[in-house]
Amino acid sequence: MDKIIELINKAEKINELSKEEIILILQSSEFDQELLNAADRARKKFVGDEVHLRGLIEFSNICKRNCLYCGLRASNKNVDRYRLQPDEIIELARKGVSYGYKTFVLQSGEDEFYTIDKIKYIVEKIKEFDVAVTLSIGEKSFEEYKAYKESGADRFLIRIETTDKDLYEAMDPGMSHEERKRCLSDLKALGYEVGSGCLVGLPNQTIESLAEDILFFKEIGADMIGIGPFIPNGDTPLKDEKGGDLNLSLKVMAITRLLLKDINIPATTAMETLNPNGRIMALQSGANVVMPNVTEGEYRKMYALYPGKICVNDTPAHCRGCITGKIQRIGRTVSNTKGFRRK
Ligand code: SAH
Ligand code: SF4
Repeated sequence: MDKIIELINKAEKINELSKEEIILILQSSEFDQELLNAADRARKKFVGDEVHLRGLIEFSNICKRNCLYCGLRASNKNVDRYRLQPDEIIELARKGVSYGYKTFVLQSGEDEFYTIDKIKYIVEKIKEFDVAVTLSIGEKSFEEYKAYKESGADRFLIRIETTDKDLYEAMDPGMSHEERKRCLSDLKALGYEVGSGCLVGLPNQTIESLAEDILFFKEIGADMIGIGPFIPNGDTPLKDEKGGDLNLSLKVMAITRLLLKDINIPATTAMETLNPNGRIMALQSGANVVMPNVTEGEYRKMYALYPGKICVNDTPAHCRGCITGKIQRIGRTVSNTKGFRRK
């Protein structure tokens, strides 16, 4: 039997692969569909056919950081900035509840307008709707993460972006890889469900480092992993780079499913930007979560991490119906639970 098929079978059977074995799978291309199919079977076996929908609220595109890949970086003068007031954010969640969402992801740039007290107020109010709350607001101190947790936040998303320290520090000027890892370990210690993930296709990123990313996700005991292709943004220093490839992103995601069998894995929006069927392809290659946008109006367009973002002219109600239809057409169901990691 071919070596690659053997490795895929091994991963499916024992949920373990060495770094060298992951590299072999990522470098080959002959058995990509077999890999994606194996991840789909693992998804079905360990987390089932339900797809968890998280309503994404993009509440501020103001950011003090300067990540080279991101359109929200502080130095980008070509983006119109906005910041929603706490009560506006709570109102978006209230409407989201009426569309059926049981979880909200509150995401923003690193915007210091939102003090500890403001975030606590927002989380406490949204928790009154009996939903799970995920924060994705960047690097904070242990005390800040602790305060949010005490106010009721359930989960936190912060991607490591890449485990290649030199690449990370080149991509995120002024940020430290140690500090990023400190955030992840503090969040874990505080009892959050911890989400991380990486970008695929950063300039100078190697296959070896992608293999290390997957093993890192396992090592930190991540509860959720989001993997997305890097999409070059014309308003950033990386505008002329090539960007990530959907197939490689799906493969990294599929191996992540095989090795971290029971975690939650979103079909990322960036995948759909590269292919109109990208999220469905992801849901059939290991993913079990989708994060439809519940941000309203012009703000959707203005939250421009990368170009070609999907659904910028749609309403939250439309997105909910659209994704539900797509999920049902592939024989899956939309979960009506809060979608915590299956233990
Ligand atoms: N400021 C927070 C959350 C918002 S950014 C943070 O950085 O954690 C959310 C994610 O968007 C980042 O983790 C990054 O992986 C992704 N992202 C940013 N720019 C991107 C691009 N050009 N292509 C694809 N994903 C991008
Ligand atoms: Fe800011 Fe996050 Fe974009 Fe970095 S990735 S510039 S922290 S919004």
